Amino acid sequence: MAGALRRAGQGRRRGERGSTRVRGLLTAIVVVLAVGVGAKVWGLAGWEGDLPPDDPTAYAFLRLHERTQQPVVWDPCLPIQVVVNEKSAPEGSETLLAEAIARVSEASGLRLEVVGATLEEPDPERTARELRNGRPGAGRAPVLFAWTTPDVVPRLEGTVAGVGGPVTQFGNRSDTTRYIGGSVYLDGPQLARTLRRDNGHAVARSIVMHELAHLVGLDHVENTRQVMAPKVNPRVTEFAMGDLAGLRRLGSGGCPYSVG
Ligand SMILES: [Zn+2]
Repeated sequence: MAGALRRAGQGRRRGERGSTRVRGLLTAIVVVLAVGVGAKVWGLAGWEGDLPPDDPTAYAFLRLHERTQQPVVWDPCLPIQVVVNEKSAPEGSETLLAEAIARVSEASGLRLEVVGATLEEPDPERTARELRNGRPGAGRAPVLFAWTTPDVVPRLEGTVAGVGGPVTQFGNRSDTTRYIGGSVYLDGPQLARTLRRDNGHAVARSIVMHELAHLVGLDHVENTRQVMAPKVNPRVTEFAMGDLAGLRRLGSGGCPYSVG
């Protein structure tokens, strides 16, 4: 698209001047089953209701370009590199992550790839300045994917299974804004409990898929047949039509930032 190509050169010049702001977005997924006892305990009545019809329009983006109302995206021509902190990982975590990455990459066309392990700890108080200094999980650095605990990341307390999201680099014009980094923090002990339940592997994998979908730019939707519903549903373990349509749009932007 001519418009995209025109913007490309401008985006590159802006990048060289470094005159951009960086900000992170983190959003969470909740496992309702962990809430005490009652109707919402795993497998009981709370999960018995009918799922709504699947809906190819049931997707939402974390951020839109103000002028065009198109989604902010990662550069689809570069791999999204991920480093993994396995300190609190459940058994089989490598398989979970590999399978989730394969699904997100396949659906979006974006290339997520694990490039190594890290001892970098999640830092929920990370500042914008740190984000710019190239630490993992930050802008201009690999995504930090950490198996961790609520002691380290307080947002994981209670029923929250994971939080994830991209770091945004704002361009001087809104349509050059893009994602350049990010983080995913998963509650390792909680996922270990999930893995011991019926169909636990698929459910745990869907939680990883949900957070990776946040990382590439999807927001929550109300349609509970989608993996991007805000609460885990053990009957919804694969991306549905809305999820897939949203992911496809996030990876279909051509190469607006790499090709001038
Ligand atoms: Zn979420």
